[in-house]
Amino acid sequence: ATHTETHGFQTEVKQLLHLMIHSLYSNREIFLRELVSNAADACDKLRYQALDNDALYGNDSELRIEIEHDTDAKTITLRDNGIGMSRDDVVANLGTIARSGTAEFMKSMSGDQQKDSRLIGQFGVGFYSGFIVADEIIVRTRRADLETDQGVEWTSRGEGEFSVADIERAERGTEIVLHLKDDAVEFADDHRLRSLITKYSDHIELPVRMPRVEKDDEGNEQVHWETANSATALWVRSKSEVSDEEYKNFYKHVSHDFSDPLSWSHNKVEGKLEYTSLLFVPGRAPFDLYQREAARGLKLYVQRVFIMDDAEQFLPLYLRFIKGVLDTNDLSLNVSRELLQQDPQVDKLKSALTKRGLDMLKKLAKDPEQYQTFWNQFGSVIKEGPAEDFANREKIAELLRFSSTHTDSTTQDQSLAQYVERMKEGQSKIYYLVADSFNAAKSSPHLEIFRKKGLEVLLLTDRIDEWLMSHLTEFDGKSFADVAKGDLDLGDVENEEEKKAQEETAKSKEELVKRVKEALAESVQEVRITHRLTDSPACVVLPEHEMGYQMRKMMEAAGQ
Ligand code: ADP
Ligand code: MG
Repeated sequence: ATHTETHGFQTEVKQLLHLMIHSLYSNREIFLRELVSNAADACDKLRYQALDNDALYGNDSELRIEIEHDTDAKTITLRDNGIGMSRDDVVANLGTIARSGTAEFMKSMSGDQQKDSRLIGQFGVGFYSGFIVADEIIVRTRRADLETDQGVEWTSRGEGEFSVADIERAERGTEIVLHLKDDAVEFADDHRLRSLITKYSDHIELPVRMPRVEKDDEGNEQVHWETANSATALWVRSKSEVSDEEYKNFYKHVSHDFSDPLSWSHNKVEGKLEYTSLLFVPGRAPFDLYQREAARGLKLYVQRVFIMDDAEQFLPLYLRFIKGVLDTNDLSLNVSRELLQQDPQVDKLKSALTKRGLDMLKKLAKDPEQYQTFWNQFGSVIKEGPAEDFANREKIAELLRFSSTHTDSTTQDQSLAQYVERMKEGQSKIYYLVADSFNAAKSSPHLEIFRKKGLEVLLLTDRIDEWLMSHLTEFDGKSFADVAKGDLDLGDVENEEEKKAQEETAKSKEELVKRVKEALAESVQEVRITHRLTDSPACVVLPEHEMGYQMRKMMEAAGQ
């Protein structure tokens, strides 16, 4: 090895390594999933680039992953004949964390190991997870388009620095040698490795091979490479052949999440559009759900060839939490992110997948407990839906859940359908109230008359709620009414006698109204006698078409 250089890890990598080694102890085996998944990604990349440049295959076109171990030397070696890395690639990829949002992620660490280990799962631990079980890692690699003297060797003990050197390397692709810590030698075991491959890598389309040593008739040792996984892409198999366990493991592979998904939907479609989709609803929100630049979207395959991660063109923003795979015959193999933006097939696929996503959520809603978990994590994202996707607003409205005076609980668990079912005779509108906090909503003077008359009011306290209500016009033929705006029309719920009494009161108090108006002068538009209060003496009401409180605040925050 020549031209050896030592580099320090990026600060975030040091923090990540420290955290990982301490918080993932009980989950150490995931290192294999991560390294196999990188090897599979590298083969996918080679296959994709070779579409334009067949020479990349050289004389070795059978893509594969190999795993072997040496019990005496306490090592595990993973090998792939994928795309490989150049010296610059190695320094960039195995010395920093390139993924966006790293800084935010690090900030969200609490120091509480239990919590942090859950967070780190959402983040995806990747290559560095090797250091959970190894006290030294050596990577030897050569990029497929470079000469054999342009191999690179990367070495690190995971303690703050790594070194890189030039090496001669005949094979393209990457070999990773893990020198196991004394307390992790259990992984250098044939049986253990095979069972981990079945658990984490069965669905990987490439063969993952392990050696089996046999003695021939003359007593010479012979190595046979055996494929240890089933090596068919999971989404290609038919639903009835895939177990729940396999779906769950596949979800963890595509999402880098540790915990199980809440549900999934696997569909093969033939006809005008031809695609297979496998979509998952995660059990919890990623830390960067509200970051504009956060990675989202599906893994895109065209005719089983991997094209790209995070293809965001196939789902609307309000379903951005959905993870999964789209494999289609309707796009060309040399499609790129730029081309995707112009391809009319993309819109068709997007609207088909949006329906699938919404249907999957509708199904999930049949299990109220599971759905509540979903709603607590992703409800405010779904609330972006009616504004973004007018065509599906009814389906989206069915998925919404609210707090309401019916339960007077902060839990958003009441559907519009339930509200409508409870509507009073003569009631024609769905009433709602927007406020800054649940307590402010619950004790709002605007509710007094509604409580007295036994009319239910939805209590909306999320930042997005006013935006949502400005795009929801009706549900089940009933329009929505903000109880804090304009004249109160309680429909036929009020009887004639009440109305008469109200008019008389108004007349007798005209003099009072005049005096209050003079006292408040410029601060208000109008002073009116109201029947909406039963206990409080007065309240502020917004004109019907005025922007609400939340919207005003949002506009102010945006500098308008
Ligand atoms: P991620 O896979 O999410 O990008 P990782 O930490 O697992 O993050 O890997 C970091 C990067 O290192 C990869 O994106 C890839 O560029 C490179 N890499 C890792 N393993 C390999 C490999 N076996 N072959 C080629 N490149 C690899
Ligand atoms: Mg990875």
